[in-house]
Amino acid sequence: MELPFAESWKIKMVEPMRRSSLKERQEWLAQAHYNVFQLKAEQVYIDLLTDSGTGAMSDRQWAELMLGDESYAGATSFYKFEAMVKKIFGMKYVIPTHQGRAAENVLFSYLVREGNVIPGNAHFDTTKGHIESRKAKAIDVTCDDAKDTQKEVPFKGNVSLEKLEKVLIENKGNVPFMVLTVTNNTVGGQPVSMKNIKETCALCHKYGVPVVMDSARFAENAYFIKTREEGYADKTIKEIALEMYTDVDAMTMSAKKDGIVNMGGFIGTNNKEWYEGAKLFCIPFEGYVTYGGMNGRDLNALAQGLDENTEFDMLQTRIHQVQYLANLLDEYGIPYQRPAGGHAIFVDADKVLPEIPKEEFPAQTLTCELYLEAGIRACEIGYMLADRDPVTRENRFGGLDLLRLAIPRRVYTDNHMKVIAAALKNVYDRRESITRGVAIEWEAPLMRHFTVQLKRL
Ligand SMILES: *Cc1c(COP(=O)(O)O)cnc(C)c1O
Repeated sequence: MELPFAESWKIKMVEPMRRSSLKERQEWLAQAHYNVFQLKAEQVYIDLLTDSGTGAMSDRQWAELMLGDESYAGATSFYKFEAMVKKIFGMKYVIPTHQGRAAENVLFSYLVREGNVIPGNAHFDTTKGHIESRKAKAIDVTCDDAKDTQKEVPFKGNVSLEKLEKVLIENKGNVPFMVLTVTNNTVGGQPVSMKNIKETCALCHKYGVPVVMDSARFAENAYFIKTREEGYADKTIKEIALEMYTDVDAMTMSAKKDGIVNMGGFIGTNNKEWYEGAKLFCIPFEGYVTYGGMNGRDLNALAQGLDENTEFDMLQTRIHQVQYLANLLDEYGIPYQRPAGGHAIFVDADKVLPEIPKEEFPAQTLTCELYLEAGIRACEIGYMLADRDPVTRENRFGGLDLLRLAIPRRVYTDNHMKVIAAALKNVYDRRESITRGVAIEWEAPLMRHFTVQLKRL
């Protein structure tokens, strides 16, 4: 008999979690104005709000905390961290920052000017925010495959080279860099192929435009290259990661994802001029260049996290779990962005709750129903998050309306995945009785999803 798959780690420390009653959840959700961001964490049973900063550190990472060097300048922790970034990404110059958006803030302060155009494969919200707040424009050049949730292609996060070339031609001399995001978070944690990375870099360089890799989930992307792309099956994750960065000019990293730390980030580059330029913004915004917003101990834990999470077994365990949840949803007929991504499942709420009109926010309603069903906290990536048009103030109903189940790294077991799938099935089975959604009672002018107050219709 073939031995079944099992996790590549065992558990040394546990954290108790508590189920609640339906009556408690009804009260808590009403107090939270039907917005799960407003719930207290202790009111949540299984928390799938995000995979960012929510991973479990290993015993080796905890041991590294004790070895942290908190010297203001030139700490051994910085050199340990710098050596790991050089080894994994081949980047000569490294600037630590407190998280991914801080890396964007520091680098973009140096590179982005008013009126610039910055193409990318679905810029992450903070990336877009740092571009738009400098009065520059972010243009999406993701391939069209990503728009169809039911289409199964292996590299749905890819850049459309035609769309990219059009932007490069039309904005010649006005594109300071292109942002290549791996995996493509916004379209569902979908990977970018090595072929597409190389072709994208070559095309940008042909027009004299550098490439910045937004690297939050680079290791998951490398895993998909190894398991899906021809010619990479026999390469190690570390070999693949290094190859992914050979033609890239710089990287920004949210270490809260594939670094498996609770807080942290960095900039890496081979361009000395960019390094010198970014350094000038690191010091006032983040801190001196050998700590830049991080503790020595946290730099140590991050170095260790990067090393562990570029090992095949670690990534196989993770992607296997996300796929395990996807398989259960397949069994129950629940539609999601296919194939399953690296860090999350994106359920297609419009298809799960077809009775609910757009104006009543189907995905937001589904987050409420899933919470009421089993105390599971997911995240709406849909019409609420899309905010209003800045000019007309109309709701933006043009995109997809999704419920994201983000899976924290090394935190939950496959039994928890069974609970999540069963809870969704129960909601799905009673979908015909869910005919009304939610209405907005109060909202902030920008980024409304964090604080919006709703009522149940
Ligand atoms: C999370 C994330 C960021 C921002 O990082 P933070 O650490 O949350 O500031 C940027 N890009 C991508 C693709 C991300 O997933």
